[in-house]
Amino acid sequence: MPQDAQQQLRVRRFMMSLAMYVLAVVPQGVSLYAGVSPSWVMLAWVAMAVVTNLGFYLLFRYNLNLRFKDPSLTIAQMLAAIAMVLFTQVYAGQGRGAYLVVLLIIMVFGTFKLHTRQLLALSVLTIGAYAATLPLIRWLEGERFNLAVEMILWCSFSAFLPFISVLGGNISDLRKKLMASNAQLQEVLQQVTELATHDELTGAYNRRYLLEMLGHEKNRTDRGGGGFCVCLFDLDHFKRVNDSFGHPAGDTVLKTFAATVEPLLRSTDFFARYGGEEFLLFLPQTSLEMAQHCIVRIQDALAATHFEGFAADYRITASIGVAQYYLQESVPMLIERADKALYRAKQNGRNRMELAAFARPQTV
Ligand code: GH3
Ligand code: MG
Ligand code: MG
Repeated sequence: MPQDAQQQLRVRRFMMSLAMYVLAVVPQGVSLYAGVSPSWVMLAWVAMAVVTNLGFYLLFRYNLNLRFKDPSLTIAQMLAAIAMVLFTQVYAGQGRGAYLVVLLIIMVFGTFKLHTRQLLALSVLTIGAYAATLPLIRWLEGERFNLAVEMILWCSFSAFLPFISVLGGNISDLRKKLMASNAQLQEVLQQVTELATHDELTGAYNRRYLLEMLGHEKNRTDRGGGGFCVCLFDLDHFKRVNDSFGHPAGDTVLKTFAATVEPLLRSTDFFARYGGEEFLLFLPQTSLEMAQHCIVRIQDALAATHFEGFAADYRITASIGVAQYYLQESVPMLIERADKALYRAKQNGRNRMELAAFARPQTV
C-alpha cells in the first residue's frame, strides 16, 4: 500500500477510536446524573481524553507518528484508553461492569495491528492493573464494597479478555495472510498480463496484443477518429547474423533493435514483435507524412546503434513497409499492404522504406 494510503488508514482508525470516546460520554453522563460517580471524575476523564487525543491528532496531522517504530501508535492509543477506563471504573460503583465491556472493545481495536502475543501481553497487563485498583475501590466504597460481586467481575473479565485477545489475534493473522496472498496475486496478475501482452525476448508488445489494439483503433477511426499508420519492419540479412555469430548474438541484435526503437516513440505508439525478426509499429493519430518522419528517425538511430559483442562499426539495417489505414479496411488487409510494401523495399535493395499503395481512394 502506498505511504499516503497507509497514513490515511491510520487516521481513519484513530477517528474510529475518537468515536468511541464520544460514545463513552453517554454512560459517563448518566452515572454523573445518577450521582454514581463524582463530577470531578467526569471532568478529569474529559480533560484526559481531550489532551491525549489532541496529542495523537497532532502526531498524525504532522506525520510525526512516522518516526515511531509502529506509526499506527496502536499500543500507545490502547494504553491511554485502558488507563482512562481503569481510572473511571474505580468511581463507577455498581456500573463498573459497563466499563469492563469497553476494555474488551479496546482489545478488539488492537486486532487491526497487533499479533496474538502482543494482545495477550496487553490483556495480562490490563487484568493486573484492574486487580491493583480493587483495594482502592474497596477503600473508596467502604461498607458498600461487595467482595463476592467484585470477584465475579474480575474473574469473568480475566477469563474473557485473554480469550478476546486470542480470537482477535487469530482474525488479525488471517487478515495479514489474506493481505499477503492478495499482494502475491496482484504480482502474479501483473506478470501474467505482462506475459500475455509482451514478447519475452525483446520486451516489445506481442503480435496478439498489437492486433487487438489495432482492432480498437480501426473501430475508433471508422467512427470518425483520426487516421493511423502501420510500419512493418524486417531486419535485413538477419539469417547471416545467426549463421556468423550464433543464435544468442542474433537475440542480442533483436533486443538491441527493440531498445533502440522504443525511446523514439510517443507513449501512444505501439511497437510489437510481429514474428522472428519482423516488428510492427502502429502509430495512432498519425498521417503518412508523420509516419515517414518517424521511420527516418528510427533509421538514423539504427545507423548509430552499437550491438554489444559485435565490432564497433557493425551495423544492422531494416527494410520497412508503411501503410496508412483507409476507412472500413480490415486489419489483415492493412497489414498485407504494409507487407507488400516491405517486400518492395527488399526488392529495391533493402535498408529503405516503401509506402503501401492505396487499395481504395483515401477517405481519411
Ligand atoms: P532478408 O533481408 O530478406 O529479410 O533476409 P533475412 O536473412 O533476414 O531473412 P529470413 O526471413 O530468411 O531470416 C530470418 C531469420 O531470423 C531466420 C531465423 O532463424 C531468425 N530468427 C527468427 N526468430 C529468431 C529469434 O528469436 N532469435 C534469433 N536469434 N533468430 C531468429
Ligand atoms: Mg523475415
Ligand atoms: Mg529479414
